[in-house]
Amino acid sequence: MAHLKLHIPGPVEVSNKTFEAFRTPMIGHRSQDFQDLYKEVMPNLQSLLYTERLVYLGTSSAWGIMEGAVRNLVSKGVLNCMKGAFSDKWFDVAKRCGKEAEALQVEWGSPILPDQIDERLKTGKFDAVTIVHNETSTGVMSPLYEIAKLKQRYPDVMFIVDSVSSLSGVKIEFDKLGIDLLLAGTQKAFALPPGLSVFAASQAALDRAATINDRGYYFDLIEFQKNAEKNMTPSTPSIGHIYALKSKLDDFMAEGLDSRFERHANLSKMTRDWAKKQDFTLFPDDGFNSQTLTCINNGAKSGGREVDVAKLQELMKERGILIDGGYGKLKGKTFRLSSMGDETKETMKSLYALLDESLEQL
Ligand SMILES: *Cc1c(COP(=O)(O)O)cnc(C)c1O
Repeated sequence: MAHLKLHIPGPVEVSNKTFEAFRTPMIGHRSQDFQDLYKEVMPNLQSLLYTERLVYLGTSSAWGIMEGAVRNLVSKGVLNCMKGAFSDKWFDVAKRCGKEAEALQVEWGSPILPDQIDERLKTGKFDAVTIVHNETSTGVMSPLYEIAKLKQRYPDVMFIVDSVSSLSGVKIEFDKLGIDLLLAGTQKAFALPPGLSVFAASQAALDRAATINDRGYYFDLIEFQKNAEKNMTPSTPSIGHIYALKSKLDDFMAEGLDSRFERHANLSKMTRDWAKKQDFTLFPDDGFNSQTLTCINNGAKSGGREVDVAKLQELMKERGILIDGGYGKLKGKTFRLSSMGDETKETMKSLYALLDESLEQL
């Protein structure tokens, strides 16, 4: 069957170059070769996260680390900031881990704002907060830098940040933000195959983890730290992924991180302009649009055009492209276009041209 190019917001299209790197002949995970490989990617990972901390590699999709963060860092109670499918689910996951959890829910389409978090942290009930930077289900990006300023007022609260669909597409300076845990899966903006996660933890996070007895093993932060100090991982990692990551990070550095962030900002702007030109409106509140994907209204909010999204998806498939038809309760009410990873002005322009053709046909 012919391959459909992925323009869904994850997994995204993976290049042949990346697959070539992925299939490098296997090495032992306790070998010098492996330590050399991890040692080689570490400085680039640290540049990407703007951190001097060691960056950990987890073999799981992002949810492994998201659950692990809760198990390692929540003692008293966690405030889960909720604004869409992924952030909402983190609340459920925290409860499944047996943690005291409370929801800070805003309407889907709106961002989480610092004052809302401040209001709840003031109660003193929480020693951790979870924040999804770029809510992929709604295309909303919350103001992370403003939110992170709260850390100064609440030094004992662990700030846990999901940057799954923003890390490497948007500048996120881990050390400067002063947050405690930053995590991302790699099948979104990194454009790697799914199955690897990248994350970093503050010293305060490691100190907190040390006080928690039932933090488990597979995602134990202290195990990750101890192993990373020797350029190793606690258990056998997906070594193919790390070769692919090395290739990808080399590309990031060759492009230049600032150019990479600028490219993502430009491509998402182009997509928003395309949507407006086609008489659609955008799902996110003004000023909080994601810079890696675009969530487009389908008649759900006033003034916008309404089309048969399922039909549009079919017509795009006939043209070799997979687009998303809305996440969860937004199915049919929105559709999403990804511009993250390796996309360029040219590839996005051909996407818009095929969308134009398909819309004509509806
Ligand atoms: C995709 C995504 C996740 C979940 O990732 P998995 O790879 O399914 O574990 C979590 N948060 C955000 C913001 C995402 O986009």
